[in-house]
Amino acid sequence: MHDAAAILLHGAPGTGLWDALRERAAALLCEAPSAGHACGRCAGCHLLAAGTHPDLFELLPDALALELGVREPEERASGQPSREIAIDAVRRLVDWSHATSHRGGARVALVHPLDAMSLPAANALLKTLEEPPPGLSFFLGTHKLDRVLPTLRSRTRLLALARPQAAAAQALLRERGCAQPEAVAAWCRNAVHATQPEAGLEWAVGLLGWLAGQGSPAAAQRALVDAAPAAAVAVAALQKIGVDLMRVRHGLAPLYLPQQGELLQRLAPHAQPAAWLARWQRLARASAESGFALHAGLSAERWLLEFGQLHQRSED
Ligand SMILES: [Zn+2]
Repeated sequence: MHDAAAILLHGAPGTGLWDALRERAAALLCEAPSAGHACGRCAGCHLLAAGTHPDLFELLPDALALELGVREPEERASGQPSREIAIDAVRRLVDWSHATSHRGGARVALVHPLDAMSLPAANALLKTLEEPPPGLSFFLGTHKLDRVLPTLRSRTRLLALARPQAAAAQALLRERGCAQPEAVAAWCRNAVHATQPEAGLEWAVGLLGWLAGQGSPAAAQRALVDAAPAAAVAVAALQKIGVDLMRVRHGLAPLYLPQQGELLQRLAPHAQPAAWLARWQRLARASAESGFALHAGLSAERWLLEFGQLHQRSED
């Protein structure tokens, strides 16, 4: 079996994959590591923290580099930042890989996400991945293992990144000043490294209240339409509500909304699993189509009413 020097770390979005890749790079580039961890104080660690370590190459799409703060906005050309790793960038990595170590130690190339690569770009990377120059380690990442080209994947050693444990996830949220760490951690299933792990939670709670007929239905409905999140967030929120309603209906504890047990209990007997799933699938398909925006008032209202009709209470 091929002894792959490249490690491909895969895990769900929001589980801190990029941080995990950086940690591995840091441990190798640290000039005084202890127990496999970077010291945070040596010259190597300082260069890494400053983003100027000459023996580290970070290969990622422009859009992601900007999101992660790896590159400053002014460093890139005008136009929409790309979500794909460009072949030119791969070629720069290949050129860089042949140089010798600046600091006399290990050299590390980070590539993420490995699935965001066209076939020519992947081919350009392949040979270096197959036979990396001595001293060069590859740490690759992906959230979509099934989309990584098999030729690339076969050159790597797979490693699954575990989700953070609930306690660790809540601690991190608390550190960030989150007011309801338990609820948010449950809502994102501990994927607290996501850009907005709480996205859709408040809306979902409002939606449950509206379905249960709390307060003034008309005002609640207007508030939901006004506060409707981006389509992808709304679709994900509705899916989570659907899963929890089905779970509660079958006597299981809610997964995403454990704090809303009482509301879910009241709604679950009226939930129609098949109809809910069908509506949700239609919404998911519609949201995937370009130009569809849930918060475009009218469509949000229509979708809300459709979901509301699945929860007709006996007194209606
Ligand atoms: Zn160090």
